[in-house]
Amino acid sequence: MGVRMNYRGLKDLLPESSVTMRALHILPAYSAYRTTYTLLRRSRRWSREELAAYQAQALSRLLEHAYEHVPYYRRVFRERGLVPADIATPADLALLPFLTKEIIQANLPDLKARNYPESAFEYVTTGGSTGIPVGFYYEKGVSRAREWAFMKTQWDRVGYRFTDRCVVLRGYVVGSAKENVYWKKTLLGRWLLMSSHHMTDETLPAYIDRIRKFRPRFIQAYPSMAVILARYMVEHDIKPFPTVKAVLCGSENLYPWQRSLITEAFGCRVFSWYGNSEQTVLAGECEESTHYHIFPEYGIVELIGRDGRPVTTPGETGEVVTTGLINPIFPFIRYRTMDAAILGDGPCSCGRPYPLLDTVEGRLQEYIVTKDNRFISMTAVNMHSGVFDNVAQFQFYQQQEGEVLMRIVKRPGYTEEDTEQILRELGKKFEGGVDVTIRFVGEIPRTRRGKYQFLIQDLPLDRWGLSECEEECRTESG
Ligand SMILES: [Zn+2]
Repeated sequence: MGVRMNYRGLKDLLPESSVTMRALHILPAYSAYRTTYTLLRRSRRWSREELAAYQAQALSRLLEHAYEHVPYYRRVFRERGLVPADIATPADLALLPFLTKEIIQANLPDLKARNYPESAFEYVTTGGSTGIPVGFYYEKGVSRAREWAFMKTQWDRVGYRFTDRCVVLRGYVVGSAKENVYWKKTLLGRWLLMSSHHMTDETLPAYIDRIRKFRPRFIQAYPSMAVILARYMVEHDIKPFPTVKAVLCGSENLYPWQRSLITEAFGCRVFSWYGNSEQTVLAGECEESTHYHIFPEYGIVELIGRDGRPVTTPGETGEVVTTGLINPIFPFIRYRTMDAAILGDGPCSCGRPYPLLDTVEGRLQEYIVTKDNRFISMTAVNMHSGVFDNVAQFQFYQQQEGEVLMRIVKRPGYTEEDTEQILRELGKKFEGGVDVTIRFVGEIPRTRRGKYQFLIQDLPLDRWGLSECEEECRTESG
């Protein structure tokens, strides 16, 4: 979630070695960054109507382009007897079918815009650590730069500057255990990348010491890494780092218990965002609230409920279905992200007339399914409560409705009583709908990209039961 942003950092914008290469690479990137950032500075002051007008125009442009230059969409329009002009506003998007990861894999060449030279395409894949891996294309040198303009705009809200010193706790494996060095400087010494694979009770004091000496203004982190550090600091009564203004959390879902633990340990605010590598949605918190503000210039978001209809009531959950507005080289129109979110209630006190998501619940596979087919979000499990004091790590595994296996890495003080407490607590959360079996393990591995999964969901992916919206709901929303 963030949940799964393919943001790898400034280094993606940085040039390769030779000076010529540098000039060639950086120019389009810089100009794409500049144009987008300038637009976002301007649009900041737009009213709801102005934003809607911008979005409608961007959508028409995208659809015209897709119809003209992208064979897959030409076919989709023709099969339905439609032309781009039939879709005048985001609400009309319901006339078009969903784009799924399976469709993308089956139609990859036909989803590439024909009016770009082959050299402009950069092949990208998502992790696929859970769910279906998906491959698609960026515009070389341009897509990541546009992304950065949005990220920077978002981080401006907490005062981030390019010159700031940052500690980066993401999925990196750096340093050498032999020399007791678990970090590495980058970006002219401004960023300190710290290894995700060496954080243990033995090495954490060295991490903390190093961070204190580095005097970072921000910490960029996967929530699952920040909590390892945070938990250690809280338990050992270690004071926060006085220079840190905010912890910037992305790429993984941020659970409420993680937010409160990180806030407590670091004594500053957590700022999180939700986005994806496919560049179809980006939403972040603001100065005043922890709701996710969806950038209307970035993409159009529909929330689709389990009944296949649009979610319109704040507080209700739906799957995030998105239409990206910033990557015409490989258009995603009504793309099913397989993420679930709760519709927010606006407008926010910050004054931005953006649509809001209350919370992002994570991937559809991050729900535990009960015997009576209810979905229980992993956000319901609070690991930062006394019940889990003697648990170093846990992970759920589900293969059958109403049954989960819980893998636990014990801490030294763990006893039979802890097991009983945990089972009692989970029984309450699951309201008797799930039988829990506990198994003790030595460790819980991270994914290939260094992320952490609290639930491995082995039930068929499409549990949401979201079906193709046929005549019935088309007339309703149209
Ligand atoms: Zn706000």
